[in-house]
Amino acid sequence: MTSLPLVFDAPRRALPPRHLADLDPAERRAAVAELGLPGFRADQVARHYFGRFTADVDAMTDLSPAARDVLRPLLPELVTPVLEQACDDGATRKTLWKGHDGTRAESVLMGYPDRATVCVSSQAGCGMACPFCATGQGGLERNMSTGEIVEQVRQAAAAARDGALGAPARLSNVVFMGMGEPLANYKRVVAALRRITSPAPDGLGISARGVTVSTVGLVPAIDKLAAEGLPVTLAVSLHTPDDELRDTLVPVNNRWKVDEVLDAARRYAMTTGRRVSIEYALIRDVNDHPWRADLLGKKLAQRIGKHRVHVNLIPLNPTPGSEWDASPRRVQDEFVRRVEAAGVACTVRDTRGREIAAACGQLAASEA
Ligand code: SAH
Repeated sequence: MTSLPLVFDAPRRALPPRHLADLDPAERRAAVAELGLPGFRADQVARHYFGRFTADVDAMTDLSPAARDVLRPLLPELVTPVLEQACDDGATRKTLWKGHDGTRAESVLMGYPDRATVCVSSQAGCGMACPFCATGQGGLERNMSTGEIVEQVRQAAAAARDGALGAPARLSNVVFMGMGEPLANYKRVVAALRRITSPAPDGLGISARGVTVSTVGLVPAIDKLAAEGLPVTLAVSLHTPDDELRDTLVPVNNRWKVDEVLDAARRYAMTTGRRVSIEYALIRDVNDHPWRADLLGKKLAQRIGKHRVHVNLIPLNPTPGSEWDASPRRVQDEFVRRVEAAGVACTVRDTRGREIAAACGQLAASEA
């Protein structure tokens, strides 16, 4: 029985071992007590991990060697870098990670004059099946654990501090725009949000204002998130204002329609006081028509309110094997003009990392 090889599905889908970053402060103290150490040791190890971005127990020299050995199981290596690529003169760095079970996920660290942002994955793969997205083509492999999500942020914070972007920088922003649908992994993502935004020793101390959760529009989960008391920014991947096209571009639209999603976005903005961001990947001759820009502006102004929303246009980053392409510049400019004419702010996303395939699962896909 013990010699059965682990070739079945279930072990691949198992979540990784328990990690310090999975635990809230009370759970952390309980876990340390279970290991037979006094509760203050829990805060000590957390101060290293969350406050100094140190996951190496042996570097925690204010703990005795014996205590380090006892605490070691709380800090298993969850994500191991297998590939790193840089571009934009080193201001964009992409990391491909391997999980304990071999699953692949990626994150991207981006430096700007006034901030440093990491884009993280929340699932290995994705079940939402958007046809223009590289991750959507492979299906969902498994959810990522809270610890795996926090580890991407912790390692990015350490890298930024240690000068990976050139000069030492403080990680100020976290966007859930890597692989996966964060609101489909709700519990673990919300726990990760708490670890990311709580001040040390309970968390990494990144302001909730600097954190963005991007979703295809899972309406009940948007409402639940609004009630968490975590004023993170919500981004909704709309991609078109009409149901007919959105049913194919974002298949979950067959469950929650454009108007329902926009109404949930308005409720989110009202509850949290945060302006919502609407993501719109401009695809040549697919969703870039002037009438769609007009309808988008009108619907956003009516259903959300023009001061509670802004549009983020993303020039499509073509996925290998797809016939879709980004819109020509003048079509993009006209689209922006029309959305703004409705009184809604509209900017074009600075596209980082094109040449390192830093879009939504492209690196993991090219490696596979
Ligand atoms: N599942 C979440 C977050 C992951 S993707 C969501 O859909 O919002 C982050 C953003 O990148 C989404 O707006 C997504 O639609 C967009 N995106 C995916 N593939 C893209 C591509 N090939 N070009 C441009 N944007 C893309």
